[in-house]
Amino acid sequence: MSRFNSFLAVLLPLFPRWFAKPFAKPYVAGETVEQAIAVARNLNHRGYAVTLDILGEHIHSREASYQIRDAYRRLYDRIAAEGVRSTISLKLTHLGLEIDPALAEENVLAVLEKAREYNNFLRIDMENSPYTDHTLRIYRRCRDHYPGVGAVLQAYLRRTLADIQNLNSARFNVRICKGIYREDPTLAYQDRQAIRDNFIRAVQTVLEGEGYAAIATHDITIIDTLETWIENHALSTDRFEFQALYGVPIGPRLKRLLAKGYTVRIYVPFGAEWFDYSIRRLKENPHIVGYILKNLFKHKRQGRY
Ligand SMILES: Cc1cc2nc3c(=O)[nH]c(=O)nc-3n(C[C@H](O)[C@H](O)[C@H](O)COP(=O)(O)OP(=O)(O)OC[C@H]3O[C@@H](n4cnc5c(N)ncnc54)[C@H](O)[C@@H]3O)c2cc1C
Repeated sequence: MSRFNSFLAVLLPLFPRWFAKPFAKPYVAGETVEQAIAVARNLNHRGYAVTLDILGEHIHSREASYQIRDAYRRLYDRIAAEGVRSTISLKLTHLGLEIDPALAEENVLAVLEKAREYNNFLRIDMENSPYTDHTLRIYRRCRDHYPGVGAVLQAYLRRTLADIQNLNSARFNVRICKGIYREDPTLAYQDRQAIRDNFIRAVQTVLEGEGYAAIATHDITIIDTLETWIENHALSTDRFEFQALYGVPIGPRLKRLLAKGYTVRIYVPFGAEWFDYSIRRLKENPHIVGYILKNLFKHKRQGRY
């Protein structure tokens, strides 16, 4: 099956977009801001918080980076005007990190200014390891500017516990995820259980300190383990939240978390770049092809949210 997934991931870009669309569709809110806001509103009605992400990464001109910066600034205006309960997540290579780290920093600070205007929140996604240090440095600069900003750390990276020790404080707001890119074994654990163990340890380390942890996974074992740990430690609900990607069919488990009064946030990507994004994701992690094939047949039976 995994060879079939890899094969399909390589072939998909050769097919027309209409063929690839079903592979992207469950995971993307649509191409326009209107569609994204409609999805966010719907999720809010079901009790979920949202974080919106404009699809795209690795832009190659300053002009393009300014356009993305402005699109994110307008998105904060729109979220406020529509009254939806949503933050924003973005990637620094979408704001020019690959061209010049100073450009990305200038752009993200301009976006953050809007977050501050509305008392909203900005999450800086984590990309592959060549960008980790730049991203954390820019995150620190942002945090000095306005505290409503968060980082992401990946449990597969061997450095993550050390990064938490360095960043941990009452102002530290971090999403912990497993990590989606292919990384060298010298930098990243490859073993599934080692990644799980590091994920759990990472969240516990944040919560044993004074920070805020966003637990971003669909791995039920991790969710169960951390939920029990949180309850045993009687942690206040304003210290953590759970997060899931739009379209991943773990609705019943998320509903149980909501029923306990926990914040559950859905990461909702949208935008014209859905095709490239999906293809890149599929090539980086061909297992996703398998998830999607399964989901294509499962969706009708198993409610998403
Ligand atoms: C809110 C959120 C934000 C994220 N942000 C980042 C980031 O900034 N940087 C980064 O590197 N990674 C990010 N990720 C991706 C993350 O690193 C993992 O690659 C992804 O979540 C899959 O890992 P998992 O923890 O769900 O565990 P897995 O073991 O991969 O999955 C657990 C189970 O969930 C289901 N599942 C998982 N993914 C999918 C899918 N796409 N479609 C259908 N079913 C699926 C499968 O049934 C699987 O058995 C984010 C993930 C989430 C949930």
